[in-house]
Amino acid sequence: MTVLNSSVADAASFLRNDELVAIPTETVYGLAGNALNAAVVLKIFEAKERPSFDPLIVHIPSKEAAFLYAEDVPPVALKLMEAFWPGPLTLVLKKKSIIPDVVTSGLDTVGLRMPNHAMTLELLNHLDFPLAAPSANPFGYISPTTAQHVMDQLDSKIAMVLDGGACKVGVESTIVGFEEGETVIYRLGGLTPEDIRKVAGEVEIRINSSSDPKAPGMLKSHYAPSKPLYISNDLDQLIELNNGSRLAVICFGDVMIDEKHAIYNLSATGDFTEAASNLFAYLRAIDKRDDIDAIVAAYLPESSLGFAINDRLSRAAVK
Ligand code: AMP
Ligand code: MG
Repeated sequence: MTVLNSSVADAASFLRNDELVAIPTETVYGLAGNALNAAVVLKIFEAKERPSFDPLIVHIPSKEAAFLYAEDVPPVALKLMEAFWPGPLTLVLKKKSIIPDVVTSGLDTVGLRMPNHAMTLELLNHLDFPLAAPSANPFGYISPTTAQHVMDQLDSKIAMVLDGGACKVGVESTIVGFEEGETVIYRLGGLTPEDIRKVAGEVEIRINSSSDPKAPGMLKSHYAPSKPLYISNDLDQLIELNNGSRLAVICFGDVMIDEKHAIYNLSATGDFTEAASNLFAYLRAIDKRDDIDAIVAAYLPESSLGFAINDRLSRAAVK
């Protein structure tokens, strides 16, 4: 049986005993274990049924801690830490050998992040090791944004879920790396490209949507509900095309949708932050309904968090 409570002390004691604990962050819940212990890290892959070529993000309590696990940190990385940590930003940096190869799938870089969640920061401060944590869902499925989502899928596979409420940001961290003097965004997430540009100057966006085994967080098909999801810029047409199905409609802003459909408006007022925080919970809620056959969704406007939300929706869509 998996323990579900809000005790940071309990979470710390499980983790010190090499057990796995799901932790709240501002983005999504993470499935955490001691990042310095290769055997524990292997247990994370097992619980998640995640392919072992998928590198994990290492969660740390402070900016200073980054230097325990990474070296040759470029000045622009420091500026980004100063600006956005704690926050939804993962920095891919040259790893020190103290980080086991299983964490990084053999890459010589490690993804580091200081999450912005009071409970998890307190937990990290109690521990003398960092936490490797991918999202706490079975591989390829929708990421969890509440403790209950984690319980629904990983109950009895892990020691504990630390309940820290609903995740405020709701999409994963933005992943940024540094290649030969260039700053590169590898994954769109809770910080927008504009946010990153303001601090880092020129930024390349190189989202890997191929099937590059080094970065499955960026696989084309990911975050997928079990019902088919279709996405387009023309929602009316999409609804018309799927006329015979019982539909859930995912939309955004001030739109009129026939009330015979199940309408899931990510934000009726057109607020991107609200939309991001609703996205995964809506997908899960729809996926649970027996009275829905298929999901249709409209792309959000291409600005702010719209980029990251569109990225997740298109990966959840039928190919
Ligand atoms: P998550 O699914 O949120 O746990 O994020 C894990 C994703 O972070 C992986 O699938 C990779 O795409 C990315 N990642 C982690 N570490 C690295 C790294 N060293 N280099 C490139 N991408 C990384
Ligand atoms: Mg994930």
